[in-house]
Amino acid sequence: MSQSPTTNDEYWDVIVVGAGAAGLLAAARLAELGKRTLLLEKNRKPGVKILISGGTRCNLTHDCDERGIIAAFGSAGRFLHSPLAALGPRELVALFEAEGVKTYVEHGTGKIFPLSDRAVDVVDALVRRLKRSGATLALDEAVTDVARDTTDDDAGFRIITSRRTLTCEKLLIASGGKSYPGCGTTGDGYRWLAEMGHTIRPPRPALVPLTSDEAWVRDLTGIALPDVLVRVIDPLATDPRAARRRGLPPTVMIERRSALLFTHFGLSGPAALDVSREVTKVTNPRALHLAVDCLPDVAAAALDERLQQAATADGRRQIIGTFDEFFPRRIAEAIFRQAGVPADRRGAELSKTERPALVQAAKGLEIRVSGSRGYAKAEVTAGGVALDEVDSRTMESKLVPNLYLAGEVLDFDGYIGGFNFQAAFSTAWLAAASM
Ligand SMILES: Cc1cc2nc3c(=O)[nH]c(=O)nc-3n(C[C@H](O)[C@H](O)[C@H](O)COP(=O)(O)OP(=O)(O)OC[C@H]3O[C@@H](n4cnc5c(N)ncnc54)[C@H](O)[C@@H]3O)c2cc1C
Repeated sequence: MSQSPTTNDEYWDVIVVGAGAAGLLAAARLAELGKRTLLLEKNRKPGVKILISGGTRCNLTHDCDERGIIAAFGSAGRFLHSPLAALGPRELVALFEAEGVKTYVEHGTGKIFPLSDRAVDVVDALVRRLKRSGATLALDEAVTDVARDTTDDDAGFRIITSRRTLTCEKLLIASGGKSYPGCGTTGDGYRWLAEMGHTIRPPRPALVPLTSDEAWVRDLTGIALPDVLVRVIDPLATDPRAARRRGLPPTVMIERRSALLFTHFGLSGPAALDVSREVTKVTNPRALHLAVDCLPDVAAAALDERLQQAATADGRRQIIGTFDEFFPRRIAEAIFRQAGVPADRRGAELSKTERPALVQAAKGLEIRVSGSRGYAKAEVTAGGVALDEVDSRTMESKLVPNLYLAGEVLDFDGYIGGFNFQAAFSTAWLAAASM
C-alpha cells in the first residue's frame, strides 16, 4: 500500500484526469496491474462524449489493420506505431466483445459499431471493467490545478480539485481537447501542461462542418453527393517540399473522397469534415476554396467525349440531361452556372469552349468557404501537446518524469471512421502498461 509522502493530502499511486475514452480504459488497466488508482472526472457521468459519439451509436474503431489506422492520422500517424502495437483495432474489438459488447462492421464504410447500435453499451462496458478493477472513480470533481510536488525529490504531483488536494506518484492526463465543450472538454489540460513546460500546438476545431457565404451552396440544402473527391485549394501555396510531404500538387492542401452534404450553413458530411482541419488551420479561410470532383470515377477526357457524343447524337436534346444518371439536376445546374453555360443549352448549340468549361466545373466545382462551425460542432480538436515531447513507446512526457498523456489532448486528429477512439484507447492502454 502506498504511503503519502506529505501529511494531510490524500496520496495515490496514480491519478488519471478525465473519464473519457482514454481515461476510463487506462484507469481500469492501471488498477488491474496493481496500482492504487484514482480517476477524476468533472462531469456527473463518465464517458459523456462516448454517449453522443457516432450519432449515439459510437463508432468504436475501423475495420483495418494498424497501417490503416496510422494512415488516417497523416504525419502524426508515426506516433501511433507503439500504441497500436500495444492495442490494435482487432484487440480493441476483442476487448469489448470480452466485456459483452458484440460489434459489427458497417457495410461500405468499414466503421465498427456495437451490434446494439447503442453508445451507452460501450460506456457501460468500460465502467463495468473499471469497477471490477478496483480503481476509484470520483465524479463531479473537476481538477483545477496540477503541479509537480516540490516538497520531496520524488514526490510526484499535487492535484487540486474542486473538493480537495491530492498527491500522486504518477499522473496521466486524459482530459481531451476543446471541442464540444458542453461535454466537459474545455481544454483544461493544455494550461497545466504548458505550465509544466510542454509546447501546446495551437488547438483548432477539426472534423467540423464548413460554412459558406455563397447563396447557391445554401440553395442546395439537403442534397447529398454520396461519392465525391473534395480538395482544399490554397491558390497561393507554392512550397514544393510541403507538397511532396503531402503527396499532392502544391496548391492542394488535402483531398478526401467520401460523401458531401449541402446544408443551410454550407457543407457537412464525411468529406467536408475530413478536410476541415486544413480550413481551420489558416487565419483567413476565405483565401481558400474547395474543388469538388463530382465524378471521381470518370476521367476528364472520358467526360468530354461523353458530352461530345451526347451533343452529336441528338442536337435538339438539352445537354444537361447527360448528368442525370450521376447526380440531382440541381447539382448539374450549379455546374452549368459555374461553367457559364445556360442550363437549357441544346447539343447542337454547345460550343467548343463550353464543353471543356463544363468538364472543368464537373471535375472541380469551386466552392468558396468562409470558415467552420467552430468547437461547438467539431468532433475533435487538432493541435495539442507536441508529440516530439512525448515518448511514443511509453506515453511518458520527455520533459516531466512520471507524467503521462493519452488521447485527444495530444497533437493528433484522425479522419471520421472510428480512428479517433482507436487512438485514444491505444495510447491509454500503452500509458497504463508503462506507468
Ligand atoms: C459529436 C461527436 C461524435 C464523435 N463520434 C466519434 C465516433 O463515432 N468515433 C470516433 O472514433 N470518434 C468520435 N468522436 C471523437 C471522440 O469522441 C474523441 O476523439 C474521444 O472521445 C477522445 O477521447 P479522450 O479520452 O481523449 O477525451 P474525451 O473522451 O473527450 O474525455 C475527456 C474527459 O476529460 C474530462 N475533463 C476535462 N477537463 C477536466 C478537468 N479539469 N477535471 C476533470 N475532468 C476533466 C472531460 O469532462 C471528459 O470526460 C466524436 C466526437 C464528438 C464530439
